[in-house]
Amino acid sequence: MQATLFSDDITSINNFHITVLLVDDQPMIAEAVRRALEEEKDIEFHYCSDPTKAIKIANKIKPTIILQDLIMPEVNGLMMVKFFRVNKETSQVPIIVLSTKEDPKIKSDAFSLGVNDYLIKLPDKIELIARLRYHSTAYIHHRQRDEAFAALQESKRQLHEANLALEKLSSLDGLTGIANRRQFDAVLSKEWNRAIRNRIPISLVMLDIDYFKRYNDTYGHQKGDSCLKRVAKILHDNEKRPADLAARYGGEEFAVILPETDLSGATEIATTILQGIRNATIPHKTSTVSKCLTASLGVTSMTAERGMLPDILISQADQALYQAKEEGRNRVVVTYRSEESPAEKQNDCIAQPQDIEP
Ligand code: GH3
Ligand code: MG
Ligand code: MG
Repeated sequence: MQATLFSDDITSINNFHITVLLVDDQPMIAEAVRRALEEEKDIEFHYCSDPTKAIKIANKIKPTIILQDLIMPEVNGLMMVKFFRVNKETSQVPIIVLSTKEDPKIKSDAFSLGVNDYLIKLPDKIELIARLRYHSTAYIHHRQRDEAFAALQESKRQLHEANLALEKLSSLDGLTGIANRRQFDAVLSKEWNRAIRNRIPISLVMLDIDYFKRYNDTYGHQKGDSCLKRVAKILHDNEKRPADLAARYGGEEFAVILPETDLSGATEIATTILQGIRNATIPHKTSTVSKCLTASLGVTSMTAERGMLPDILISQADQALYQAKEEGRNRVVVTYRSEESPAEKQNDCIAQPQDIEP
C-alpha cells in the first residue's frame, strides 16, 4: 500500500514554523500569494508593499523565506537582494525572486547576488508551497546547526574554565589556601631543571613551627588551624618574585622555593619570615623558647649539575632545619655544600634567637 504524505503530516514531522515575507509593490500579487497560503497552518504570511521598509519589517518578523519582486518603482529588486544580504538579520535568509520574465541573464545576475531561487509570477500554488517549505526547512536546519555549534562552543568554554578552576583547587592546600605539596613537587622539579639548564642557583627554605603540638594541646585544634593560616599568609606575603613559591609541605611544616636566588638572598627572606612570625605575637604560653609563636627555618642554595635530583636540595634544607631545632629553635640555620662556598664552613647559623615581648 502506498502512503500519501499530506502537508499537515509534513508540518507535524518537522514541527517548523515558516514565516514568509513578500516584498512587492502590487497588492494584487500579495492577495494571490495570501490566498495560496491561507490553508497552510504552519505558514505565516507577511506582506510589505514599500521596499524602503522591507529591512525594518524583516528584522522584526524574522522571516524564514523572503519572496522578492524584481521590478518595483522605487527600488530595483536585485538592489533589495543586496540590502538583505548585508543586513545581519537577513544575510542567511533564503530569497526567492518573483519575476515576470523568464530571462537567463536576469536569472544569472540574481543568483550571483545570492538569490536562492527564481519563480515566474504567478507561480502555481503547489509549486510555491513546495519551494517555500524546501528553502525554509533548509534555512531552519542551518540555523539550528549554527545554534547547536555555538552551544557546543560555549559548553567547551565552560568545561575549560571548570578544568582550570579544578586544576587550581587541586594544587592548593585546603586549609591555608597556599600551594600544596603536589604543586610544590611539580614546581620544584620544573625550577630545578631550569636552574640546571641555565646554570643558575636555586634556594629552598624549610620552616617548622616550634612546639606546635603543645600549641594545639593548650589552645585547641581550631586555634591551631587559624595559626597555620596566619603563618601561611606570612610566607605568601614574602613571595617577592613571580617565580617564588610558598607551599604547605605537610602538617605544620612549610617550604619556600626561591629560583634564581643565591644563599644570601634566601637567608634574607628566611630571616624576614621568622621576624614576621615573631612580629605576629601569637601567644604560645607553653612554648619554652618564647611567650609567642616561633618557628625554626633551614635554608639552602645550590647551583645544580646535570644528573642531580632535587631531593638533595630538600635534604640539605631539612638538615639545616633539624639543626635549627637542635640549637634551640626560633632561628634560621643556613647550610650549603662545601663546593658552593669553600671559604665558609659547611653549617653556619646566621640568625640567633631574639627575645620577643608578648
Ligand atoms: P617541634 O618544635 O619539635 O617541631 O615540635 P612540634 O610539637 O611542633 O612537632 P611535632 O611534630 O611533635 O607536632 C606537630 C603538631 O602539628 C602535631 C599535629 O597535631 C600538629 N598539626 C599538624 N597538622 C595540623 C593541622 O592541620 N592543624 C592543626 N591544628 N594541627 C596540626
Ligand atoms: Mg613537624
Ligand atoms: Mg613543629
